[in-house]
Amino acid sequence: MVWAKLPDDSGETLALERHGTGFRLYVSPQESRAERYALKALVARWMPRSRTAKCLRWKLPNRQLELMRSTEHAKAFYAGLQVCAMPWLCPVCSAKIAERRKAELQAAMATAKARGWQVLLLTLTVPHGMGDDLNVMLDQMRQAWRYCSTSRAGKAMRKAIGLMGTVRALEVTYGQNGFHPHFHVLLFLDKSKTPHEVAQSFAPIWQRACLKAGLERPSDEHGCRVDDGSRAADYVAKGGLDSHWGFEDEVTKGHSKKGRRGSLTPFDFLRAYRETGDDKFRRLFLVYADAFSGQRQLYWSNGLKALLAVEDLTDEEVATQEDDADIVLAQLTSDDWKAVVDTHSEAALLNVAETHPDALEAFLDGVRAIARACRGSGTRRRLAFPLRLAGEREG
Ligand SMILES: [Zn+2]
Repeated sequence: MVWAKLPDDSGETLALERHGTGFRLYVSPQESRAERYALKALVARWMPRSRTAKCLRWKLPNRQLELMRSTEHAKAFYAGLQVCAMPWLCPVCSAKIAERRKAELQAAMATAKARGWQVLLLTLTVPHGMGDDLNVMLDQMRQAWRYCSTSRAGKAMRKAIGLMGTVRALEVTYGQNGFHPHFHVLLFLDKSKTPHEVAQSFAPIWQRACLKAGLERPSDEHGCRVDDGSRAADYVAKGGLDSHWGFEDEVTKGHSKKGRRGSLTPFDFLRAYRETGDDKFRRLFLVYADAFSGQRQLYWSNGLKALLAVEDLTDEEVATQEDDADIVLAQLTSDDWKAVVDTHSEAALLNVAETHPDALEAFLDGVRAIARACRGSGTRRRLAFPLRLAGEREG
């Protein structure tokens, strides 16, 4: 962490941390976790039948609910709860999945480099406008991508640039022209090509593919862009550029309303709703959720994981992974857990477990007392817990 003075002579300083090749405002892991839980509570409220509504709230059948601490990271977490493993919908699971995907990609890129390969970052966009049907558009984009790999011209181009495999990330932002879904693709090449050469080869094929799939012709200027290896590494380190397969990327104190170039990410809809209460953001999130929840977020081309010796784990496996060496800090009864959920204290309890484990019992006593008081007064889920953390708000 570094401290930076504001350039306006106010004497105010900001805490910054390294982020890719640049810096961002420092947010403590506890703060960003509290925010993720608060945002998840919104999704649960808006989509009560989704798996995310049960995620980290409902107990797993026949399992003891336990508060644990990882011996490796000293982080507290819950065992014995259902998890949704839905990267598009769940701010908590998405962070966990993104962390793992980032490590996989970094390992794959290191292996590629050791082999003398090159990794470039390709960004593909399509023309879009307000009122586009997102479901149709995503379908067409997938078709266009398939054409790039399976058409005769596509295969010839792949051979010419020495393309050994790709990892395709789907991302989406929302701006003046509505939803803007786009692909960021890591290109693994066994030939030495400049980004310019690769863009020259890829652009005409992407344009033709889009037309074939029923999309408008991507512009020469923005349709296809290729960046060099350092940008590719930066992209992976940040866990995504615009969107949230790296949820961490988006967590910034109060500065979160606008993403890059003034556009919003889907999790920004949740933040904006918390800040303004404007129903527009709820509606936008639901449109997004409907279109994206069935989509693959990261797609490795066939055989690439095997080529680069990357273990093949599903989102579910990643989201439910536990370490045998972890320590049980406390066992929670069903009543305890109900009190924790009713008072929105899930993240606060984890913080206490990490920072003041000796105060766990006292904290739980407080949670139980408040839950009882809420129930007695008929204001269940209304009262705010006094030990709530900075930045947290009523869910
Ligand atoms: Zn989840």
